[in-house]
Amino acid sequence: MAARAYLDFNATAPLRPEARAAIMAAMDLVGNPSSVHAEGRLARGLIEDARQHVAALLGASPRHVIFTSGGTEANISALSPWIEVAADHRPRDRLLVSAIEHPSVRCGGSFPPERVEELDVSARGVVDLEVLERRLSVVTAGQRPLVSIMLANNESGIIQPIETAARVVHAMGGLLHVDAVQAAGRIACSIADLDADLLTVSAHKLGGPKGVGALVRREGVIPRPIVRGGGQERGMRAGTENVAAIAGFGAAAAAVRDHLVQEAVCMRAMRDRLEAGLRAISSDTIIFGADAERLPNTVLFAIPGVKAETAVIALDLEGIAVSSGAACSSGKVQPSHVLAAMGVDAALARGAIRVSLGPQTTEIEVDCFLHAWTKLGKGLNKGVGGLAA
Ligand code: PLP
Repeated sequence: MAARAYLDFNATAPLRPEARAAIMAAMDLVGNPSSVHAEGRLARGLIEDARQHVAALLGASPRHVIFTSGGTEANISALSPWIEVAADHRPRDRLLVSAIEHPSVRCGGSFPPERVEELDVSARGVVDLEVLERRLSVVTAGQRPLVSIMLANNESGIIQPIETAARVVHAMGGLLHVDAVQAAGRIACSIADLDADLLTVSAHKLGGPKGVGALVRREGVIPRPIVRGGGQERGMRAGTENVAAIAGFGAAAAAVRDHLVQEAVCMRAMRDRLEAGLRAISSDTIIFGADAERLPNTVLFAIPGVKAETAVIALDLEGIAVSSGAACSSGKVQPSHVLAAMGVDAALARGAIRVSLGPQTTEIEVDCFLHAWTKLGKGLNKGVGGLAA
């Protein structure tokens, strides 16, 4: 196959070599980590090493890391009315989630739908904290809210003001869950610094394997398990652990921690090159969230009149993997809920294309993308009109 440029790291990142090595080594271990014999203890050791690395990346104590099957499970586990805080067993009776959350948060976990409320974002894609404060202050005595806001959005890369949100939520007696799936590995992401109560991460977005993630908790915050039975993960997530995947996650977390600062510098330089190139190709290019604080690796853009699905297929044929901002479900392309929440016109939102870079993305790959983008629009007076709707 001819060389391809993979520019879809927000969908999933390639496995880091350190993670691959850890997974391969763990695959040959026979022991069940719950067994007391030497084989079991060896497997247990790998899990506890991984827990240390994941905890260190996220500013948490290893005791507070619960391994899950990924970000989706961690989000759903976090969003329960039955979170215990400092031995207080009374249920949470209200869930507020931002309008730009991942579907695994928007579905509301185990809250009944009538208890789930959506929080607006501004046209810049940032959660409106005044609205949050107003909504939280409209409480009947004794109400106990849980709020979920992501650290960085998966489509736009826009970063949310979590520390301030935490102050607002805590002042109103609430708890804050943060989905940090897209942020971890791209910007500093510490549960302690963010002052969050619960935090979700997923291994495959930061160079670990797919199908493993973690819910990280603050001291005293105890989520109710959704996978129950055995006593694994201190009784918070039953089932024999996926030792190889957890070992790979730990190795990826350690590698991220070692290289985060320099990787962010590289990604930002490539993103700036890409955005400058896009604007040079067409002055009609709209980069969503360009004036907001964003992840260093994500560009979500559109050109009026261009259809994203057609563009993504055409780019794929040119050897370039990117995503459209729109979601495809049951054969129908839905405009992105993220752009809709930002008030972006539905026709323009249907043209949104997400390019997401990784630490190993090269100038050559960025230039290949720009070359293909120019080629697709050749001969047209407006942007990339060959892809016009
Ligand atoms: N949260 C966000 C922001 C995501 O982007 C994703 C995956 O795309 C998830 C949660 C779900 O993570 P996982 O794929 O590990 O279930």
